[in-house]
Amino acid sequence: MELTAKPCSPVRVEHAEGPFWHEGRLGWVDIMAGHLWLAGFDGNTLTEPRSRDAGRPLGAAVPRAGGGWVLAAGTAFLAMDEDGTVTPLTGDLADPSVVRMNDGKCDPAGRFWAGTMAHDEASAIASLYVFDGTVRTVLDGVTVSNGLGWSPDHRTMYYNDTPTGRVDAFDYDEATGSVSGRRPFVEVRGGAPDGMTIDDEGFLWVALWGGGAVHRYDPSGRPAGTVRLPVTNVSSCCFGGPGGSTLFITTSQQGLSAEQRAAEPDAGRIFRVEPGVTGPPATPFAPAR
Ligand code: CA
Repeated sequence: MELTAKPCSPVRVEHAEGPFWHEGRLGWVDIMAGHLWLAGFDGNTLTEPRSRDAGRPLGAAVPRAGGGWVLAAGTAFLAMDEDGTVTPLTGDLADPSVVRMNDGKCDPAGRFWAGTMAHDEASAIASLYVFDGTVRTVLDGVTVSNGLGWSPDHRTMYYNDTPTGRVDAFDYDEATGSVSGRRPFVEVRGGAPDGMTIDDEGFLWVALWGGGAVHRYDPSGRPAGTVRLPVTNVSSCCFGGPGGSTLFITTSQQGLSAEQRAAEPDAGRIFRVEPGVTGPPATPFAPAR
């Protein structure tokens, strides 16, 4: 499977990340700007994009059951209402001068998993957290926490600590939200594994930071396709649109030279492709009872 994605976003941001599809809208974040963007989709382009300001670096947002969003921002979890009002749900989990929240997503039970990264992008001092009303630390010694996903049978969780160059797999227990048995799933070539999503066939779609592509892997880790983009930094992807048939892909201008920025006028926009497979919408946050 060899595909090419095309831009579908009228807005260009610095660092688009963390896309999610929920109730007819695509959401994504512009991390250092602290913006949560929402837009409709007419089957061709995103429509009426509008941003809300989290007031701090915004690593990831997930829809909340009943409306609004839960944010992994700064080094805390916060709630954002539809009108943009932000309310802290936790205190700072780490020193915001050293680390910040990065990628995150809800598991099949509606728990919000999100991890941090050092501002220097190199120190292995970050963590992966899970939040369901209270916070638990799942992993320490992480460098750049990215790329969560769960298999359609809810038995495997996939995770990318980007500088490892790998996607790792864990055994995942939906009832308790615990993970065990970490092992390498695939060594990614041609770029660094950033965000990812999983389609309805259980195949992974992994965004390649620095690689201008999204790679597809089958559930045993074999390469199963490539989506090419005319930009260097591809950050994440999710399924959405009618029937979940569109793969939306986020891209970034971050780290590009002035020449590269001029040569990549669509870096920082959302791209789309219809790969012939579907994927599920975002799982909303639902706190533990
Ligand atoms: Ca990322």
